[in-house]
Amino acid sequence: MTFANLPSFLGSALAERGYVAPTPVQAAVLEPEAEGRDLLVSAQTGSGKTVAFGLAMAGQLLDGEGRVPYGILPRALVIAPTRELALQVSRELAWLYGKAGGRIATCVGGMNPSVERRALQQGATIVVGTPGRLRDHLERGALDLSGLAAVVIDEADEMLDMGFREELEELLDAAPAERRTLLFSATIPRAIEAMARRYQRDALRISTIGETRGHGDIDYQAVTVSPSEIENAVVNLLRYHEAETAMLFCATRDNVRHLHATLQERGFAVVALSGEHSQQERNQALQALRDRRARVCVATDVAARGIDLPTLSLVIHVEIPRDAEVLQHRSGRTGRAGKKGTAVLVVPFPRRRRVEGMLRQAQISAEWIDPPGRDTIRARDQERLLTRLLEPVECDETDRELAERLLAERSAQDIAAMLVRAHRASMPEPEELIENSPEVRRAAQQERHRPGFEDTVWFRMNVGRRQNADPRWILPLLCRRGHVTRGEIGAIRIMPGETQFQVPRAIAARFADAVARTAAASDDEGAIIIEAAEGTPRDAARVNRQQAGRQQAGRQANAANPPAPPSGHQAQPHRPKPHRKGPVNGGDGRPSKPWKKRAKGPSQG
Ligand code: AMP
Repeated sequence: MTFANLPSFLGSALAERGYVAPTPVQAAVLEPEAEGRDLLVSAQTGSGKTVAFGLAMAGQLLDGEGRVPYGILPRALVIAPTRELALQVSRELAWLYGKAGGRIATCVGGMNPSVERRALQQGATIVVGTPGRLRDHLERGALDLSGLAAVVIDEADEMLDMGFREELEELLDAAPAERRTLLFSATIPRAIEAMARRYQRDALRISTIGETRGHGDIDYQAVTVSPSEIENAVVNLLRYHEAETAMLFCATRDNVRHLHATLQERGFAVVALSGEHSQQERNQALQALRDRRARVCVATDVAARGIDLPTLSLVIHVEIPRDAEVLQHRSGRTGRAGKKGTAVLVVPFPRRRRVEGMLRQAQISAEWIDPPGRDTIRARDQERLLTRLLEPVECDETDRELAERLLAERSAQDIAAMLVRAHRASMPEPEELIENSPEVRRAAQQERHRPGFEDTVWFRMNVGRRQNADPRWILPLLCRRGHVTRGEIGAIRIMPGETQFQVPRAIAARFADAVARTAAASDDEGAIIIEAAEGTPRDAARVNRQQAGRQQAGRQANAANPPAPPSGHQAQPHRPKPHRKGPVNGGDGRPSKPWKKRAKGPSQG
């Protein structure tokens, strides 16, 4: 299908941009059955939806000659959830309607309202803006909606999520009843359906989401890591992919700040976006990403909404998303307009089940892999380096003279080696990740026979095999919570409902003190209780068995506390875990009761 039969000015604007064929959502709104009707469209960002609603309202904006007649009152209103999205929509409509004589006024929070008022007074065909600012102009009399022929609500689900219902309703109520209402939304939850029922008449339902996702422009990967290795894994993922632009998602503004500082310290060109940044800081960060002074952006879900960076080819979910919908919103920052993107979920071992469920719900199949290690990254670096250095060089006379002088002083090999070193030095070092091999696990198991562990104290933690306890994440967690090294942890026994481990008596008090202090500091792992155990794991198992017998709870109690395993560090038998409806941050692999405190829901920044 081509863009045939469009009004000539719109057709030539599209041709000038090099857009030869409509995207599925554009094709759908151009079908004869959609003409003049209200539309309820589920389409994601990147699907070409802006041009789609631009084309859909042509009938309300153009005269018989395909031109926009001059008028003081706006004919169309587009409401978008964020400043960036509104500005982007405004830019798109400006080129689409520019040749036809359309004038666009943009009204967004954080910009100078008097400039906007002037633009409105001078007469705008299309007004694009964010709900709060548009309502301000409406209430102050600067925006007259009585001449509207079409209203577009863009990313309606996000707008309701962000709490803009009242503003939207006020704007819609101020528009003439006979206008067209075009509702665009990535998802159509019940609240959107209700809004459609109230504000639309006989709307045509259009859904192209399946088709865009079916094109497979986003590859999903899930990498499993120890909870204490998340940042190192992120460093390595960034270094492995070397994306032109990468977006990293955290759940809270504090975590954005921390990850931003960590990456900056390691030499990445990184910016941050969260609720704590002013509009000016936001603009500067986005500008740095656009002109490539920065290549990595750490953001909260809310702060990243509506951002469209054509070079963004990698999304990393540093903290797992709240639900399947957020997963798709975040991932949708990449793979836009037919380009390929990669979305990587960083999954702490205990949360794997939860993520698997989320992927199932979103009907996404992800490849489960280990994070890239140093050697893999270095091998890739070498390939990239060779490709880059073997590209044809364009030098001027001065460059060549300098090259001659260098060659007179040094051998070609030395110069090439220096060049390689200079290139390498510009890249942050990959991190050494804890390996997950049988050898590593065996070595850890043998540690308890080593000197220094003649006199030990047993400690216990309230996660066991049922919660996916595994030395791969338990050991680093103990080091971080207890301020000890791996060498200071002795035998580890993983039981069904808890894990016990040895610490040399000489440092036991210091360890206990540190785990108590760090419990409050760590949101995620702080919920794991670590405390001194009475007796050995075998004693604990014996007590459990006795209790089980006394309670005659039979199978149930036995399942919760079977005899202690003969030794620690065992492979984890796969057992289904009880279903738990937990708080948004709660991983699947966590016990439902023994937490000291509940993980908080992500406070969006
Ligand atoms: P959107 O979904 O509106 O955010 O659009 C994503 C990107 O696709 C924007 O940069 C559009 O300019 C671009 N685009 C829109 N329509 C087409 C088309 N028919 N062919 C190629 N690119 C398009």
